[in-house]
Amino acid sequence: MVLPNFNDNLKKYAELLVVTGINVTEGHTVVLSIDVDQAPLARLITEAAYERGAKEVIVKWADDELSRLHYRNQDLETLTEVPESKIVEMNEMIEAGASRISVRSSAPDALANIDPTKIAESRKASSAAFRPMMEVTQSNKVSWLVAAASGADWAAKVFPDLDSSEEQIDALWHAIFNSVHLYEEDPIAHWAEKVNTLQSKADELNKESFTALHFKGPGTDLVVGLPELHRFEGAGSTNARGEVFVANLPTEEVFSAPDANRVDGVVVSTKPLSYSGTIIEGMEFHFENGKVTKVTADQGEEVLQKLIEQDEGASRLGEVALVPDASPISQSGLTFYNTLFDENASNHLALGSAYAFNIVGGTEMSREELNAAGLNESNTHVDFMIGSDQMDIDGIKADGTAVPVFRKGAWA
Ligand code: ZN
Ligand code: ZN
Repeated sequence: MVLPNFNDNLKKYAELLVVTGINVTEGHTVVLSIDVDQAPLARLITEAAYERGAKEVIVKWADDELSRLHYRNQDLETLTEVPESKIVEMNEMIEAGASRISVRSSAPDALANIDPTKIAESRKASSAAFRPMMEVTQSNKVSWLVAAASGADWAAKVFPDLDSSEEQIDALWHAIFNSVHLYEEDPIAHWAEKVNTLQSKADELNKESFTALHFKGPGTDLVVGLPELHRFEGAGSTNARGEVFVANLPTEEVFSAPDANRVDGVVVSTKPLSYSGTIIEGMEFHFENGKVTKVTADQGEEVLQKLIEQDEGASRLGEVALVPDASPISQSGLTFYNTLFDENASNHLALGSAYAFNIVGGTEMSREELNAAGLNESNTHVDFMIGSDQMDIDGIKADGTAVPVFRKGAWA
């Protein structure tokens, strides 16, 4: 490691994830999912969580190489079997109100040579089995956080021109630290301010009560309907215990739920998407009455096709998010091949489930009430990027008037 003050910065980063991210307080159970090659960071996060009064920190280790071995050697039946013990464990964690941190460092194409059917079927089985956990997090009943760490294979993909693996890993760490504003004098205070700024942007949009957003850019002409009581949200969320947490680090977006039945037109992707260990590029979606009627991609089309066929809601939208092109991540000019970063460089949409908190009173609504309000239901949620410095967005009012929201990739 040749980055200056790396060990100090890694400790600061762990504290940021624990304090700003999931906001650990006295008595929390914390579940940390992280790759084996990130053990030093895992220890620092665990230590910081105990310092803040965590009752228990449970670490779940992951490893790309082991995943590949399992996919190659297990038959489809074994891959799609979810053992009862894992369901029992999930229910215990829901019961305990456990906070969840997921630190990702996998290569974006970690599963490139694996049979796409095996990946799709095993993903489908596990997302169906762990759906209760997804519902708990998507309605913010517990604190949850997705963050990243620099892994060798991922770093090689982002910085192919650097000579050594060590330089690549360092460059990616530097980019991650930069994206989460870790080089600020007091990153935790900086984030508190940032959460407020993003929320006031969201409040401005909520005051407008738009019925739809109209996206226009090269290859894109798409109208995304918004449910009547939709709410735009910024970085900060509040869990069932009333604690404020930040679910993504980094985050630059202001987002809401689209009306799952009112999306019409064409939209093209502007950045590659890493999904299920495969890179999908050059996507074009056609929508009618909320549903994808046709989809193509220059690369990874088969995986994309399987994604939208996963269940009924996978071919409809669950999120619409606004990110100015001036965002620090966009200005870095890097393609991270990682949604956590790339979605914060660009306006984006998500296929699949909507967040219940994106509608007034949503976290208290039943599934039927959410569906009736237009919030999409699915076992999946996959963001894809559509923004650029060419994009214009109009907000459409109930009387049909158009209000400029974005011009050339910036807030109007
Ligand atoms: Zn988003
Ligand atoms: Zn999303």
